[in-house]
Amino acid sequence: MRKNIAAGNWKMNLTLPQAQALASEVVHMTQDEYQGDAQVIFAPPFPYLAQVLHLVKGHARFSVAAQNLHQEASGAYTGEVSAEMLVSMGVTHCILGHSERRQYFGENNDLLAKKLDRCLAAGLTPIFCIGETLAEREAGNTLNINRVQLEEGAFHLDAEAFSRVILAYEPVWAIGTGKTATPEQAQEVHAFIRSLIAGRYGEALAGEISILYGGSVKADNAVSLFGQPDIDGGLVGGASLKSREFTEIIKALP
Ligand code: PEP
Repeated sequence: MRKNIAAGNWKMNLTLPQAQALASEVVHMTQDEYQGDAQVIFAPPFPYLAQVLHLVKGHARFSVAAQNLHQEASGAYTGEVSAEMLVSMGVTHCILGHSERRQYFGENNDLLAKKLDRCLAAGLTPIFCIGETLAEREAGNTLNINRVQLEEGAFHLDAEAFSRVILAYEPVWAIGTGKTATPEQAQEVHAFIRSLIAGRYGEALAGEISILYGGSVKADNAVSLFGQPDIDGGLVGGASLKSREFTEIIKALP
């Protein structure tokens, strides 16, 4: 079902006490100040998943995501984490295809398609990220790049599996740079993504998929971004590390 979502990607930041304080502050401020029905997802580093899960327990709007998983079910992959491990501890979501994974860890569409399969097979909800670089945008390739990432990474799924995916459009040039896509730029790509989904799976399913925008979302631009018809919330990096700022972003959702 299409939901409004604020997801905080903490990346490789925070100590454990800082992570616990952040999660606990956001939970309490949201509880006191927000009456909407948005879902909130924290994506802490792996070592803090259990503690953050504990802090959100009993707070129905909150879920916890991993930032990555391995494409195999188990085995001799030192340092890696499987989907089944995440599920066994109560994690419900996993970010896949983030541009930092694509850029620094060589994750391509083929690998991401496998990770997506593993994630869904284990019963986790993927937050699948796509987005163009600045050079690709300036060359006029924005829509094409997003189309190829979506088609190669996710369109092999059948309709039932695809219906469980959350998408995130994250223009790479806007991630961590302070440059945000204008609401119109973001809406153009979101509407295009939804039209691709409609072409592949039909209008009804396209209308059910949550498509988040990511790229320097802050309290002061969230309302105008989230007000766009095809933007269903945000995947937030830097601003999700500050409890007050992230709570204000949550409050920008209906
Ligand atoms: C992200 O990492 O997904 C992201 C959008 O980061 P930031 O909000 O810092 O641009």
